[in-house]
Amino acid sequence: MNGRRSGKLHHALLIRGAKGLGKARFARLLAASLLCRSAGEGGIPCGQCKECLLLKAGNHPDFVVIMPEEPGKAIKIDTIREFTRAESMTTQSGGYKVTLIEPADALNMAAANSLLKTLEEPVSQTLILLVTSLPGRLPATIRSRCRRVDIPLPDRHQARQWLASQSPEADLDLLLDLASGAPLLALDLADPETLQQRAAMLEEFFAVLTGKQDPLVVAARWDKQEPGRVLSWYSGWIIDMVRLKMAPDTQSLLNPDQRKTLQLSGNSLEFKRLYELLDGAYEATRNLGGQLNSQMMLERLLLMLAGYGNRA
Ligand SMILES: [Zn+2]
Repeated sequence: MNGRRSGKLHHALLIRGAKGLGKARFARLLAASLLCRSAGEGGIPCGQCKECLLLKAGNHPDFVVIMPEEPGKAIKIDTIREFTRAESMTTQSGGYKVTLIEPADALNMAAANSLLKTLEEPVSQTLILLVTSLPGRLPATIRSRCRRVDIPLPDRHQARQWLASQSPEADLDLLLDLASGAPLLALDLADPETLQQRAAMLEEFFAVLTGKQDPLVVAARWDKQEPGRVLSWYSGWIIDMVRLKMAPDTQSLLNPDQRKTLQLSGNSLEFKRLYELLDGAYEATRNLGGQLNSQMMLERLLLMLAGYGNRA
């Protein structure tokens, strides 16, 4: 937070990094640091002043959070218009005004274009924080007007220690593998209900692949879950099938607890098919929050999966 002290903070920061690394927490801490009236050494917010208390209560007038109306949906132009109108007014407290856009990759094209004007004509004492794990989905025009802040992956040992302090009962290594090493995501997955959900979905995945379940029925069930998570699990299973087919002894797996079943299924499919399935999953991920509704997208993926499997 050196920029804060020198008063030369860039007016828009693009905070990037994998899911579950605490990007939004970092953004909130930075906001708190700017809004706090008696921040300590290194910009640490005091936690007690009026600004800090308002922020904690979630109703600081100079801290605005812009999110999709529902997770996985787009941030629309009306939301950005409303924000840019408010942006031109002076701050309520006479200090900084901070806006958090999360996830920034949810901005649809019209919303991004509308935001662009604000990024081009910065108002002093304002800061816009764009948080994303998929920076490639943001238009280059937006990216080029922000200063980049990369949140790195912590080393495995550190992540494991932290996770153990939060969830001592959990299978730490499995959770970190499932989360590709990102500690907050791993903690999120530590919820037994989430792990049960994953187990049930994996069973249905194999059932569709072997022709034992109707892909459309399964798609309707999966559609009730958070689409980003469904797609990340689905891609993870296929990635592991590819890895195990290429290097049967690999230790680098996203789902080490499912080694045997994924290996078996992967071996029953040609490489070409596996890559097509993976492409389908990536395309669906790119289209999240876009035009295609999520159930249709899942139907498309699962019909493809059903078509490639060996009927038992
Ligand atoms: Zn304070």
